[in-house]
Amino acid sequence: MKIDVLTTFPDMLVPVIESSIARIAAEKGIVSIEPHDIRSFSENKHGKTDDYPFGGGDGMVMTPQPLFSGIRHCLDNVKPEKPRIIFPTPDGVPFSQDLAEDLAQEPYLLMICGHYKGIDQRVRDVWVTDEISIGDYVLTGGEIASLVIIDAVIRLIPGVIGTLDSALSDSFSHPLLDCPWYTRPEVFEDLKVPDVLLSGHHARIETWRQEERIKKTRERRPDLYHKWLSEQKKD
Ligand code: SAM
Repeated sequence: MKIDVLTTFPDMLVPVIESSIARIAAEKGIVSIEPHDIRSFSENKHGKTDDYPFGGGDGMVMTPQPLFSGIRHCLDNVKPEKPRIIFPTPDGVPFSQDLAEDLAQEPYLLMICGHYKGIDQRVRDVWVTDEISIGDYVLTGGEIASLVIIDAVIRLIPGVIGTLDSALSDSFSHPLLDCPWYTRPEVFEDLKVPDVLLSGHHARIETWRQEERIKKTRERRPDLYHKWLSEQKKD
């Protein structure tokens, strides 16, 4: 998968791209992520990328010209058949594991990082295929949101993490939230691992894990719990 990211802060992305799961995916030749500075596409002699909103109001809006040019530049290099062009924005559709799984099937993604009030609506109308919110809160810019989406997507591509099966049993891939996990030692500062996990009895361990998943989901996410419950009743 190739991921281009249009941003006015490419330096914000580099430390994450050069560490984390993104570096592992790049070293394995599975994913390459390239930040592009939106300013470098600006035809303004000062590299300006924002202006005052028509109709008045506080704050600035990112202008269409550098974004149209940046998008065309990225698409011309890759020539993807049906590019998914993603604009992370608080007024987008909520990001979810289902959407991450859908995006993980794509050979190419282009992310646009907004700032200020956001980007000129014409960029959204002409180019953007997916407007995605990472949560009901407002960040200063789209870089962190893009990194959240990229991380969630690339870990689902086969070969990126050692055990894809493990990722597929995580919360949200599984209908219930994840159960508690323990590792060595059996006792740490008088805190003991639950006996059942040391029993070697696989059926009992699975029953315990499922009970823990149900308990946690019922307490923390009644919406998911009731959805799961109604699926159980159908089966
Ligand atoms: N005027 C926008 C609104 O109210 O919907 C908020 C703009 S925000 C200050 C600046 C940029 O940060 C957005 O264009 C977007 O790229 C990014 N951003 C902020 N919060 C986000 C969120 N919850 N999910 C995805 N992107 C977000």
